[in-house]
This record gives sequence, structure tokens and C-alpha cells, in this order.
Amino acid sequence: MNHDRRTDSDAVLSLLRDALGGQAVVTDSDILDVHRYDTAKFCEAGTPLALVRPSDTAQVQEVLRIAGRHGVPVVTQGARTGLSGAANAVDGCILLSTSRMNRVLEVSADDQVAVVQPGVVNSELSRLVAEAGLFYPPDPSSWEESTIGGNVATNAGGLCCVKYGVTADFVRGLEVVLGTGEVLRTGRRSTKGVAGYDLTKLLVGSEGTLGVITEITLALRPEPETSLTVAATFDDGRKALQAAARIMAAGLQPSLMEFLDGTTARAIQDYRDMGLPAAVDGILLVQSDRGDRAPQDVATMGQICADCGAVDVAEASDAEESRMLLEARRLVNSAMEALGTTLVDDVAVPLSRLPDLLTGIGEISRDLGVTIACPGHVGDGNMHPTVIFDREDAEAERRAVQAFDRVMDLGLRLGGTITGEHGVGLLKTRHLEQELGPVSMRLHRGLRQVFDPLGVLNPGKLFTPEPDETPPVAPEDGAVRSAP
Ligand SMILES: Cc1cc2nc3c(=O)[nH]c(=O)nc-3n(C[C@H](O)[C@H](O)[C@H](O)COP(=O)(O)OP(=O)(O)OC[C@H]3O[C@@H](n4cnc5c(N)ncnc54)[C@H](O)[C@@H]3O)c2cc1C
Repeated sequence: MNHDRRTDSDAVLSLLRDALGGQAVVTDSDILDVHRYDTAKFCEAGTPLALVRPSDTAQVQEVLRIAGRHGVPVVTQGARTGLSGAANAVDGCILLSTSRMNRVLEVSADDQVAVVQPGVVNSELSRLVAEAGLFYPPDPSSWEESTIGGNVATNAGGLCCVKYGVTADFVRGLEVVLGTGEVLRTGRRSTKGVAGYDLTKLLVGSEGTLGVITEITLALRPEPETSLTVAATFDDGRKALQAAARIMAAGLQPSLMEFLDGTTARAIQDYRDMGLPAAVDGILLVQSDRGDRAPQDVATMGQICADCGAVDVAEASDAEESRMLLEARRLVNSAMEALGTTLVDDVAVPLSRLPDLLTGIGEISRDLGVTIACPGHVGDGNMHPTVIFDREDAEAERRAVQAFDRVMDLGLRLGGTITGEHGVGLLKTRHLEQELGPVSMRLHRGLRQVFDPLGVLNPGKLFTPEPDETPPVAPEDGAVRSAP
């Protein structure tokens, strides 16, 4: 956003207050400071002009119209649990928080859908639909905090996604306010529907760059049957990953398959006593939720782990023990942060290449002398190699960034991706073209221009414009004209 097109901040604040009411427009510098960042503390953040909390779609439209007219960037924020800097402030921006748009509008058992506002927290929706005997499977480890709007905008995955699919698989339709202030409705409530391009899928994972999502229609499923969990420990993490690939290939449909390498398991145990063994190189947690078939499933899964060289295979004896194991998994991020500054990578590779990924990461760690912990949703081939370092030590930081980059190169070489679920944000902007190539990048830039011709939505995130691209300005009459 050019400085010469940014008009008087006071005028913008005054227009925002008129449109939303004074309470919904926050300029207190302490509050703004807290809202500058998401959870990827390593990424840079600018200084916002204001934080606004619209309460409905019409107010979101007003914010975007004001922003467009005055050339002010808009960064949408859910719960700011993102791990890529995608929700970080840019200088002079309006932070648009969805915290007041937090109502579940409908849960329909007949149609197996829920209609929600974007600020609804994932776990609240999950519990509410469970009361109606229904199930909303996408469950990022951040589910107690992260919002459905944020989940949709990042296409979040989670622990159950190995069996049921990621957020995109559950989004039927969206209401979205575009950068121009217009309202777009995509998709439908019915299970099937192929009319037109799939704009819903395009918007899922768009990281706040194509529009502000104001309403979401989600598919639900019947509640799963009773589940059982098995935990297998290995003296070599590669063997655990071979077991993971074999369990998936056996068609056992695990409802969860998580890997903790030795460094991660010890970090969790040091952070909180969860009964995890200390002297291991890998732990595989696998669950079956197939009710009567679950005991046979976990027995077969356990046997596969033993065949692959597990030193111990233990079935959780009851639901409480199962819950403890999963709770241990959900502590990963906090446990890592207790060790130092973290750079969380998010590569995903084909299942058969997981052992090679682990070997390659071990080599990078030794070459550069950095600690890299490796937890992952390995049933999806998704690993979160986490570089832990001391931010006060410039040399350690340089090596950490090098390690982070090399892990992405390795993921791509193994036929995978630089991000399985956390998104690109600011953290991986410079790596996107490496995965997508120039033709795809040109189409991405073109699509962004179509959805956000004024260039107000989350500038600098996901990818940067070509140097000669100057967004047009919306004059007072609202018509969009090309920049001179
Ligand atoms: C402890 C921990 C565990 C995590 N585990 C997982 C995991 O298992 N799987 C996973 O996928 N992620 C995980 N994450 C990352 C994060 O929780 C997800 O990316 C989540 O979807 C972000 O939701 P949020 O509400 O916090 O969004 P934010 O962080 O606020 O925003 C994320 C992005 O979405 C955009 N956005 C938010 N709301 C809207 C909207 N209404 N319209 C348009 N754009 C919007 C923002 O601009 C930004 O680009 C984890 C994070 C933490 C801290």
C-alpha cells in the first residue's frame, strides 16, 4: 500500500467509529500491541492503525468499503493461533477481529450441517454438535482456541483428519465479503452440487487474501463409535514411520495416527508428567473408532508395530488413558516453547518417504548443530520438524533459519509440500514459488487481483505482488479504476 495513497488516519478512525460504534474500534496501544502477532513469534509484524470488532456482515462490508476508499490494508484475525504470521499486522492496517461474530446459527440433524459465524471456537462447535449426536471431525491441536473462520482460512488439519479429511472436506458453502465490500455466496447446503467453478475450495486456505469469511456452512457426520488407542515405542524412529505406512496400507482406517520423536517425547514429559517413557527414539499413537471392530483393529495395528520392531506396544486400557495420550500430543507446542524459540516447519511427504524425511532431518540437524524435534500427523505424511534455538544468539538464529529452509527443500525433493496445514503466511512467502512454479504464481496473482482489485486484503502475505503491480484506488463513488 503506497504511503501517498494513505489518507489521514483520524478521518479513517472517525468513519470506522461512525460505522461500527466507538466500542468496536480499539486504538489503545497496549491492546494493539498484543494483537500485532499470531503465534509464529518469529515473523515480523507492523504497527496497526486500529483493531475493529464488527458484529455482522454489514459492518464487515462497511470496514472494507472504508479501507478501499482510503487505501488502508485489512488483516483479518480469528484467535491468532496461526503458526505462519498470516494474521500479523502490517503497518497502518485495520485489524479486523471476528471475536464478536461468534454465534452458531443452526445445527440441522436432518441435513447434517451446521451454519456458523467465523468467530466460533472449534471445540465449542464440536461439543455443541456432539449434544445432537453429530460430529465435526477437523480438530487442530489448537481446537480449544482456534476459530472456524481461521480453520477455514488456513484449511486446518488435525488429529482426526487422517480418517475424516481436513477442513476443506467439510466446508459446503461460504458467505464472504470481498475487498470491494461486495458480498459473495459460494457453494450450497446440499451434499452435491457442481454449478460453476469451485470458489468455495478456492477460498478455503486463502489466508485472508481473497475475502473476509462471514458465514460458513459445514458438513457434519454421525458421531463415531467407541474408540481405542494403542501406543508403540521404538528405539529407532524410522521403524515407527515404517509401521505407520504399513498400517495405512493395510486399510485399517485409523482415526488418528500421531508420531513423537524422542526429543519431542522428552520435551513433553519434562513439561508435564504424562507418563511418557524417556529412553525412546519414537512413539506412535494410533486409534481406531470403529466400535465393535476397534479391539481387533488395535490388536492388528499393535502387531504391525511389533513386526516393525517396536520395543513396547501398549493398548490404552480405558477411555481415560486414551484421553491422556492424546492430551500429551496436544501439549507439543507448549513443551517445545519451554525449550527456546521455535521455528515450526510443516512439510508433508508421501507415506513411503517418511523414514527418509526423518533421516534427512537428522542429517540437517547434525550438519548445522541445531536441535530439531519431530512430532507429526504421520498418517497424513505431515511432519512438524521444529527447530529450537536461542533468539539471543545471532549465530544460532542464522543456523536455525538455514535448517528450516533445508527441511522444506528436503520435503519437496521427497515429492511433498512446504506446508501440509499451517499455510504460507509470512514465514514461507519466499518459498512458495519453489513449490508452485511461475505459471501457477501468475494465476495466483491474477486470482487475487480479481477478488481484491484494491489490494487491501492482507498484503504481503502468502505471496508478494510483482514489483510493477500497483493496486488501483477506489474513489468516493466506489467504482474501481486502474492505477495510473
Ligand atoms: C498449540 C497449537 C496447535 C496447533 N495445531 C494445529 C493443527 O493440529 N493443525 C493445524 O492445521 N493447525 C494447527 N495450529 C495452527 C492454527 O491453530 C491454525 O492455523 C488455525 O486454523 C488458526 O485459526 P485462528 O482462528 O487462530 O486464525 P488466525 O491465526 O487468527 O488467522 C489465520 C489466518 O486466517 C485468516 N483468517 C482468520 N479468520 C478469517 C476470516 N473470518 N476470514 C478470512 N480470513 C480469516 C487470517 O487473516 C490468517 O491469514 C496450531 C496452533 C497452535 C498454537
